[in-house]
Amino acid sequence: MNPHWNGQFSCFNLVAKTDEKVRTVVQVGDLCIGGDQFVVMAGPCAVESEQQLITTAEAIAAAGARILRGGAFKPRSSPYSFQGLGLVGLKLLDKARRATGLAIVTEVMSPEDVGLIAEYADIMQVGTRSMQNYALLEALGKCGRPVLLKRGMTSTLEEVLESAQVIAMNGNSEIILCERGIRTFETATRNTLDIAAVPVLKAVSHLPVIVDPSHAAGLRSLVPVLARAAVVVDADGLLVEVHPCPDKALSDGVQSLTFTDFQEMMDDLRPYIAMRSCARGVRPHLLSRVEVT
Ligand code: PEP
Ligand code: MN
Repeated sequence: MNPHWNGQFSCFNLVAKTDEKVRTVVQVGDLCIGGDQFVVMAGPCAVESEQQLITTAEAIAAAGARILRGGAFKPRSSPYSFQGLGLVGLKLLDKARRATGLAIVTEVMSPEDVGLIAEYADIMQVGTRSMQNYALLEALGKCGRPVLLKRGMTSTLEEVLESAQVIAMNGNSEIILCERGIRTFETATRNTLDIAAVPVLKAVSHLPVIVDPSHAAGLRSLVPVLARAAVVVDADGLLVEVHPCPDKALSDGVQSLTFTDFQEMMDDLRPYIAMRSCARGVRPHLLSRVEVT
């Protein structure tokens, strides 16, 4: 690991692992993210309609997911793409929560929207394009909800921790980090999943770390195997895109799993999740032994 890293940890004192603060467990209802549970968050890229959202929520809950994802305010690369349903989308997320008992994670893009979205969301998502929007991070420090902080697509892990520190400095240490793939020269996948980010972040920080294999791969066929990799490197959970009819999705259909794909992925992960718990019990230090020199 980069030897300069350690000297810089004093800048991240609120998010860096210390002898006193080994792990943060983010509690959402009866869920503990960053504890022993492996928590799967799933759902459509964007909330499109009541039927799309409720059927997806029911399908992912039946397969074992605990948190419903869905964007109501969408940061799209093209200004001509679907921008989300806004408040109507938030109300549909609330309806889905009441129908299924799933918690809700949804994206917030601007500081002005923090108050409104915090009324509906259990977890506030910061997207890759907003990771260094410091006005947003400051507002999220005071929002009273846990924050899911996605890695900027061209950000170093040091920059991820800097952004987490901004949220923590402003009063909120309920932060979940998310590796969602970074831009590299490779074009076969939408982004390159930096799987090493998981053990590195868990070695240097006390915050939970989850993986988003959907935005990393950009292709649905690669999502299950990358999800497996996330379990094996001891991530605390997943964020996965699922759609009732991916070919008709208004955003990110190519990387979205069908209900059947999702159920199969969850079945496939089960032995790996069991092994992860075993490895923690038998050799608790095996997966966290990353030297920071
Ligand atoms: C999303 O989760 O749908 C999303 C826009 O993700 P990212 O910010 O990682 O591109
Ligand atoms: Mn998406």
